[in-house]
Amino acid sequence: MTSTGHDVNSDALVQSPDSKHPANLICSLCRQFYGHGWVTGTGGGVSIRHDKHIFLAPSGVEKELMQPEHIFVMDYASREYIRRPLALKSSACTPLFLAAFTLRGAGCCIHTHSQWAVLVTLLCEAGMQGRKGVFEISQIEQIKGISRGGTGSTEIAEGGRKLGNLSYFDTMRIPIIENTAHEEDLKESLEKAMLEWPETCAVLVRRHGVYVWGKDVTQAKTQAESLDYLFQLAVEMHKLGLKWT
Ligand SMILES: [Zn+2]
Repeated sequence: MTSTGHDVNSDALVQSPDSKHPANLICSLCRQFYGHGWVTGTGGGVSIRHDKHIFLAPSGVEKELMQPEHIFVMDYASREYIRRPLALKSSACTPLFLAAFTLRGAGCCIHTHSQWAVLVTLLCEAGMQGRKGVFEISQIEQIKGISRGGTGSTEIAEGGRKLGNLSYFDTMRIPIIENTAHEEDLKESLEKAMLEWPETCAVLVRRHGVYVWGKDVTQAKTQAESLDYLFQLAVEMHKLGLKWT
């Protein structure tokens, strides 16, 4: 029991026959992201905010083997764990996921170690494309899959356009922060980037990966996919001598 009397191993919080239950969704997302090469070797992670609770994948569990009983649950208001599997460690990404929930009103945040994300930060660092502190790309159809601020309106206008999303003629900009020795030490610079770049749906971490969020799981997941497509495309464009903007 914790100081507030919660059972630290309450299975009722994570066991459900509903495939849309956050604990089940985290497991299925981790398996999918493992398949994409986004969370290899236990790196990366995912968190979902649902009602008053935050559901978190633990540290150190192989992502393709994640089970609901591995999931940590935190009370959003008190920031206290109400379910904490005793044999596991909480994720070092936790303060970064919380930043997306509190500063952006996100309902889901995804962290990947995608090689394409790492490569675009290296190209920017080397001064080979764009600017050191921001990834920029324009006039690519997939930019339309990105919402303003990451949690922009998903309302569909006549013609099928999502009202809250970037248009084909917008330039997509994703800030890049510098990596730190410990994941949790990224919190301050990640929060600063979120405040300085209100239009961004993600923050790249140099030589490390990317944090992407959305108002719900669908929006966060589709944006993570659109971004990864754009990062891969950008690397291939660079190899062919093509400019991103
Ligand atoms: Zn990481």
